[in-house]
This record gives sequence, C-alpha cells and structure tokens, in this order.
Amino acid sequence: MMKSFITYSEDCHFPIQNLPYGIFSSTDNPNPRGGVAIGELVLDLSLLESEGLLPSNYFSQSNLNLFMSAGKEIWPSVRRQIQELLDENNSSLKDNSELRERAFYCQSEVSMHLPAQIGDYTDFYSSRQHATNVGTMFRDPNNALLPNWLHLPVGYHGRASSVVISGTPVYRPNGQTLPMGEENPVFGPCRLMDFELEMGCFIGPGNELGEPISTENAGDHLFGLVLVNDWSARDIQKWEYVPLGPFGAKNLATSISPWVIPFEALEAFRIDDPIQENPTPLPYLQCEKNWTFDMNLEVKIKSPTMTEPETISESNYKYMYWNLAQQLAHHTITGCNMNPGDMFASGTISGEEAGSYGSMLELAWKGTKPIQLSNGEVRKFIQDGDNIIMTGYAQGDGYRVGFGNVSGKILPAKKQ
Ligand code: CA
Repeated sequence: MMKSFITYSEDCHFPIQNLPYGIFSSTDNPNPRGGVAIGELVLDLSLLESEGLLPSNYFSQSNLNLFMSAGKEIWPSVRRQIQELLDENNSSLKDNSELRERAFYCQSEVSMHLPAQIGDYTDFYSSRQHATNVGTMFRDPNNALLPNWLHLPVGYHGRASSVVISGTPVYRPNGQTLPMGEENPVFGPCRLMDFELEMGCFIGPGNELGEPISTENAGDHLFGLVLVNDWSARDIQKWEYVPLGPFGAKNLATSISPWVIPFEALEAFRIDDPIQENPTPLPYLQCEKNWTFDMNLEVKIKSPTMTEPETISESNYKYMYWNLAQQLAHHTITGCNMNPGDMFASGTISGEEAGSYGSMLELAWKGTKPIQLSNGEVRKFIQDGDNIIMTGYAQGDGYRVGFGNVSGKILPAKKQ
C-alpha cells in the first residue's frame, strides 16, 4: 500500500490515496490558490508549480476551473506527480526541509474558499427512498412516486450565487407561508428550517450547445465530488412551489465541503448500480458502466447547549436510484451546455431505515416524531443556533477516502 512521509491515522480522511483538491489562503499569503489535503496538512500546489516541481499553471488560480477543464488527458498525470512527491520513498520534497517548511500548512490554520467559480448549479431528486418518503407525507402513500419519477432523474435549476463554503453561517430566511386552514399567506421567518444531505459533483470539460453528452461519455466530463447541505425552508416551499418547483425555499444558501475528491480516488469504491427494470429506462438513460459509490454519510447536530455534536442520521451515497452519468445525459439530452465548474447535487440521500433519512423532515416525519437528543432537547426542525455538520468517507483496506465535513450554523432571521 502506498505510504506518504506525512503521517496520519488509519481513520484520517486525507491519506495519500485521496489527495482531494481545494482552494485555500493563509495568513502569510492571502491569495486564494490550489492545494491538496494530506493528513492534517495542506500542500501548496501553487508553490510546487513556481518551484518547478509541478509543470503546470493550474493551481496559482483562485479557483479550480482551469484544472477542471483540462480533463482526463491531464488529471491522472498531475495526480501521479503529486502522489510521487508525497511518497515516503521520494526524497525531492521529503528531504528538502527548507521547501517543506514553505509548502505545508496546517488545515486548522488556513481559510478554505469555494473550489470553483460555479456558473450553474442543478439539484436532482434521485434517491428513491427520499422521494417515496416525501410523496408519502405530502400526497398519497399508495402512489408516493409521481408517474415520471422512475422514467427520468427529476431535477431543477438551482442558484449558483448562494453556494457557500463550509463554515459560512446561514440566516433563517424570511418569506411567505400559508398557515394551516387559512386562505391568505403571512410573511415572516421560516418556521420549518431543514437540511438536505446530498453529494455534489463538479463538471470538468463541458459540451457545446446542442451537443448532448451520452451516459457512455459521462466520465470524460465528471471531475469529482463534495458533500452538500442543500438548506431548505419547508413551509416556504410548500406554498410557493406550485407549479414551477422550488424557488426561495432553496435559494437562501447551499453549503459545500471544501475538498473535491477526484473520481480517480474513488475507483476502489465503485459498486453495482441499482437494478432498473420496472420500468427499464429509455435508451438515452441506459448506462453500462457503474456510477454508484459506497460512501458512508453522516449528519450531526450541535445545538448551542451541546459540547459535542450528536449524530442524527447515517446514510450512504449508494442509496441513489439515478446515477451521475444518467443525470448528466438527461440534463444535456436537450442540447443544454455544461461548463467547467458547474455543479450537480444528487438530491437528498435517504436509506431505507428511519435512522438513515437525509433530512429533518423525514427523520422527524413532518414533525410527528420529534428527534430526542441526548441532552434532553427535542427537534422537529432546525432551531436558531443549531450547527449542522455532515461528514462522509469511503472505507478502504486500512485507509479512508473522506471529505472532512461541511458545516453551517443557522442564525436568527434578519428583521424586516
Ligand atoms: Ca435538494
């Protein structure tokens, strides 16, 4: 097994097998630039470029868009060079103490920035259990899935401007809601604030307008994954979403984890896609290669009175019905063009057990089964001051490939 001269524990999310890319800045150099996470450190890739150890110019940029656009011709060789520089048997960085001093930073001491300039953000709805739970609660348990759901990956065009990096506080939104039994809406702070546990995928090279991407070629266009918390104002959503879908309930903020794990680091965790035979998807959505990954996901809450976060959900990325290649093929079948740095979110990822649901709406079943926390507090939805922390990793043999986490605290609504 490959080992780095940088040491870390077996449960560390950032071993040499991972090497996720991110954009960071430091007190000694406030310019946002590219790095990889290794152990508890960040390796400054822009410095390696300027020292001639990495023959590229991707990481002196303030986002990863240029690197994302470079595609599969470039990504593996860059990754291999970084892996070699960090290998315990390679002396070029290991034995250069002066360069090591300048090239590594503690993750706890740097600021992380959005990894890409996100031009467009799309949110799917591709977990069958989540769609079934929502359909059961709001429509009809016997016809929980709408007629289109098993035929296409349902999605909507989200708002890229409010995608924020982990740690950014989020204000409870104000908006219109319709009180039970009333005819007219009222205005005020959202009362049913929720999170959604999702994965996000960054697009690499895009496609020309009018030129769809097939499921077969999807891998040429998919760069890597992050964790996503797609904040949701359930009461605002319920009143506004007919007939065009979510609007303000979803545009308030979407939080993402800072490190993008490239698919090259996830190959070992690729597993069989779910069987889709009733109905069989239309030909343009059929997919030979598996795009399902076995990745443990977890949601924790830390209320203002808690000293430690408490786990409220354990799910897995494998609980997806429509995979990334199918989402990309469906998104572009009309001719819609993708650009490097665009982001897809998976939709809330819920497993079959109640403890694996990916939103508070489902965990507390629309408020009818409040969640009991160990400090005596209960939750139906998120309260002001609650910090929601999501984490995730794939378990290898003696190592983990993880995301770190995405966190966000809900602040009281602004006075109107
Ligand atoms: Ca969502």
